[in-house]
Amino acid sequence: MKTSKNSENEHVNLEQGILYGVLKQIRANEDQISEKPTLVSVWYCDINPKDTQKIVALIRDHLTDPDPVSLTHIKRFMKVNECIRSILCSLEYIDEGKLINLIHEHCPGVEIRSVGLIEVPRYAPQTKDITQAWSSKYWPLAWKGNPNHQFLNTVEFDISREEEIVSTLLDELEQCIKKSKDSSDCSGVSATLIAENINDSIKLKTIHANTGSKTPYDHSVMKAISSIANNELHRRKHSSQEDGEGYLCHNMIVYTTHEPCVMCCMALVHSRIGRLVYLQGTPPTGGLESNYQLGDRDGLNWKFQIWKWIGQNEVHRLESLVGKESKAINY
Ligand SMILES: [Zn+2]
Repeated sequence: MKTSKNSENEHVNLEQGILYGVLKQIRANEDQISEKPTLVSVWYCDINPKDTQKIVALIRDHLTDPDPVSLTHIKRFMKVNECIRSILCSLEYIDEGKLINLIHEHCPGVEIRSVGLIEVPRYAPQTKDITQAWSSKYWPLAWKGNPNHQFLNTVEFDISREEEIVSTLLDELEQCIKKSKDSSDCSGVSATLIAENINDSIKLKTIHANTGSKTPYDHSVMKAISSIANNELHRRKHSSQEDGEGYLCHNMIVYTTHEPCVMCCMALVHSRIGRLVYLQGTPPTGGLESNYQLGDRDGLNWKFQIWKWIGQNEVHRLESLVGKESKAINY
């Protein structure tokens, strides 16, 4: 998935948050938006105002990419007493020793009066009012219009590849139902596939089904996460390369037939996945559209994209396998 400023936007329905007529964005409503932001630690330095341009160049040339935390909604400079305080980059990106070395190497002669950490909102605020409130409470933020509209206009999917993957997911579910002893009881039956975007191409990593066990650890999402975790730990143990990411499903893509339960959603948050796609909502117990909007909640330490697949072919196929409405149990 990439973003592009010049995308054709015929496939975007901003009003309803639908792309290509098949992917519906699931996110907190305006009135569910928290006034309390998720915070992230960032490095600042205090400098003499005359050195501002040198710090601008340092940020532009050495500290922007690939900072894992996007700071485009953060204003970089603020006057503090006689100094200019500048936000440099996130703590996740670089430690203090490396930062000091970079400053000395690329900004010789700049008088650094102090370097330290402060907490700022990790994600762009959703409204202008919240932007103002957070700006006075934490740090000046930039309001550039509805960030979600910008996101919908620029996010890109290889939609035929997405269709293929959803079909693979449904194939797996169908096979498991055929194999299971009691194929008439479909309550709790689900399948989950985890994939990874490597060089703009989506590669399947694992696929698991639950044929109806009520044990939470048998939920297909939990089985798929465990499988990735086990493989990844094994790989890292036998690989001489250091791996920078501590999170085992970092930025992976999860496709699942049903809206996951609260426990599975929290496991997805803690695994730091990048995106989730599911087909059928599971009221009243699901952890996304049914309750809590886990994965799109300010105040938790991670957010991921949530999409509901509403393409009619796939939705009807799933309904023919497991019925139209989920039973009131956890998936
Ligand atoms: Zn679950």
